[in-house]
Amino acid sequence: MKIPQLFLCLYHIFFPKLCICCHNDISGSPERVCGKCLDSLALTRFENWRGNRVEQMFWGRTKIEFAFAGYYFRKNETIQNLIHRFKYHGETDIAVMLGRQLGKMLKNSNNTYFDAVVPVPLHPIKKRIRGYNQCQFLALGISQITGIPVATDILIRTSYSESQTHKSRADRQLSVSKAFAVTREATKWMGARLLLVDDVVTTGATIEACCEALKAIPCASIGVAAVGMADS
Ligand SMILES: [Zn+2]
Repeated sequence: MKIPQLFLCLYHIFFPKLCICCHNDISGSPERVCGKCLDSLALTRFENWRGNRVEQMFWGRTKIEFAFAGYYFRKNETIQNLIHRFKYHGETDIAVMLGRQLGKMLKNSNNTYFDAVVPVPLHPIKKRIRGYNQCQFLALGISQITGIPVATDILIRTSYSESQTHKSRADRQLSVSKAFAVTREATKWMGARLLLVDDVVTTGATIEACCEALKAIPCASIGVAAVGMADS
């Protein structure tokens, strides 16, 4: 064993790197979540399934070519912990990691024909308060695997609202329905296939509102990728 390796081994003995979910030692791994915890997440496999439950959500509401969520989102499970960490605690590397998982799902199901990955935007005030847009990091992870560029100059959020968590489904839908718009630069994406990226799809109201705004781009078609689908 070479000297630097020996020091590294000693370092890992005294300062082990632990999985953020199960706290098992994962020293030497580039990720912060162990393979076992990642494998324990409930996969939907929707990316291989036309007419899946996420696509059904938009039937009769807005035109979407393809939609999927990688995992079932269930409270008190690992997926909630991971999403909570990247959404509210600044652990953006977890968003990139989950984005890469979505990227692999897209690649394995041959759904990599998109021209741009478009993160669902935050209002500038909300972004300033949070410090980042978590969906941008999910988009980055997808891009790292698929090579599809991330475009943040297409869609903007124009209305600012407080947390939606405690609002009723109808109130949420109403407050988000006209919340998005496209930028002037968006016209250069005429005819493009855009992949919208969000963290969790619950009622589909946010995605629907984004799609309504994106209709201003002539002949653009839309796909959707989310980490989780609320599964009650
Ligand atoms: Zn673990």
